[in-house]
Amino acid sequence: MQTTQTPMPYASNGDQPLAGRRYLVALDQGTTSCRAVLVDSCGALIGMAQQEFTQHYPQPGWVEHDPLEILDIQRAMFDRVLEQHGVPVSAVAAIGIANQRETTVVWDRHSGQPVHPAIVWQDRRTASLCESLRKQGLEDLIRERTGLVLDAYFSATKIRWLLDNVDGMRGRAAKGDLLFGTIDTWLVWNLTGGDVHATDVSNASRTMLYDIGKQQWDPDLLQALQIPESLLPEVRDSSGNFGAMSAHGATIPIRGIAGDQQAALFGQAAFERGMAKSTYGTGCFILMNTGDRPVSSRSGLLTTIAWRLNGRACYALEGSVFIGGAAIQWLRDGLRIIESAAESQAMAEAAGGDDAVVVVPAFAGLGAPYWDMYARGAIFGLTRDTGREQLVRATLQSLAFQVRDVLDAMAGDSGIQLKKLRVDGGAAANDYLMQFQADQLDVTVERPAAIETTAMGAAGLAGLTCGFWDLKKWAALQTTQRKFRPDIEPSDRRLRYQRWQQAVKRAGGWMR
Ligand code: ADP
Repeated sequence: MQTTQTPMPYASNGDQPLAGRRYLVALDQGTTSCRAVLVDSCGALIGMAQQEFTQHYPQPGWVEHDPLEILDIQRAMFDRVLEQHGVPVSAVAAIGIANQRETTVVWDRHSGQPVHPAIVWQDRRTASLCESLRKQGLEDLIRERTGLVLDAYFSATKIRWLLDNVDGMRGRAAKGDLLFGTIDTWLVWNLTGGDVHATDVSNASRTMLYDIGKQQWDPDLLQALQIPESLLPEVRDSSGNFGAMSAHGATIPIRGIAGDQQAALFGQAAFERGMAKSTYGTGCFILMNTGDRPVSSRSGLLTTIAWRLNGRACYALEGSVFIGGAAIQWLRDGLRIIESAAESQAMAEAAGGDDAVVVVPAFAGLGAPYWDMYARGAIFGLTRDTGREQLVRATLQSLAFQVRDVLDAMAGDSGIQLKKLRVDGGAAANDYLMQFQADQLDVTVERPAAIETTAMGAAGLAGLTCGFWDLKKWAALQTTQRKFRPDIEPSDRRLRYQRWQQAVKRAGGWMR
């Protein structure tokens, strides 16, 4: 793995980096864009290059990506971020990867050609297949072994769909000519010139084929879904050796991989049991570290592996809110009562008057812990004095109530008390929302200085193997930009949350 141009870079057995290799590049392969983020050996974010790629919607409910386009753009972003900052490839100690999860690629191991476009996590084409698996009584087995709910999101039914629908695929798979991977695996296989066919536990645990307790591909699920094991990658620790990429005469080891949400949890250094992160994007994604044992959920949350280091898995509970920042977009683009999302903060802060208005943004039903697909959005508590400001304030509050719903469910399922919440995503910039969140949760909400938490997680995992930091040092390097401490009377907190719960109840079942 050594090259002539880089004198003694890394031995491929995982030696310490030699002088001059002071940087990491995190490849953050998201659902809509590819980013490459340059991080130095002190954990500081130096720069970023980003480019969107094409979304394909061949039929209603179907979403595809071109794996070759993703690979090209991801490579170009790697080059671009180094170029922009004048960093030679030979100064890069390691690469880390964070990726959109569950998205499924199958390719020919000889030609490297995908047999079909990637089927994206959002793609619903296998919903009826899931229904028939449910009728076969597989739901409980799936939950028990994989920690997941039986759903078309996860890779398993997408692989099965390819086996059933791509001409000749079963035969080629039986001969061992084909390989499956989530996007991390696809990138690693290509970047290493076909040397390494591997994934990490966090990605494996989103396939709906991986036994998260035993930490192995589950033979019963493979059989039930008729998926040959020869397709599947080797599952490795999230921080460790994933081979090396050759670029511009240098060899750069790939040393860290995690699915995007888990990477963000790592980037936020939520290493203690009871620490959680919430990402406030279009939807909200919440993960809580539950320590070294999987916790099963009674509330319809997912149990997943956050990462595995030196053979030791750390587990998490995961939940999401369908409509988070999307509710703010609705204020802007639907109701047109704000001009920009950022403006919502000042309006909420300025809103005086009665604070009893509650907005339930159940535009697409309600997820955990309610699981009511018939619920619809509703506004309660209107009076003659209710104006734009009050509606904006109540809509911001609805994000915080929904995140509390999920975190309360996590605490209930696990018996673990929430210690603190770390936040990221676009709407985490909103001070009013963050303060209200702290008030509702009765824990400190911490907003980090480095907002690219997903990429930072990939860099963090890779940097562990380079002697740049250990977990403790990594945690110390993650500085907080602002802390929001609870500042509300307990009786007031209770009253507001009870009102929210009342409102949710009344919005429930609307379309039934
Ligand atoms: P995604 O990754 O899902 O596209 P982002 O993390 O980029 O989301 O966040 C964008 C979302 O955050 C949008 O839904 C937007 O309405 C919301 N948002 C952005 N800035 C603010 C703000 N200052 N206050 C409230 N919401 C915001």
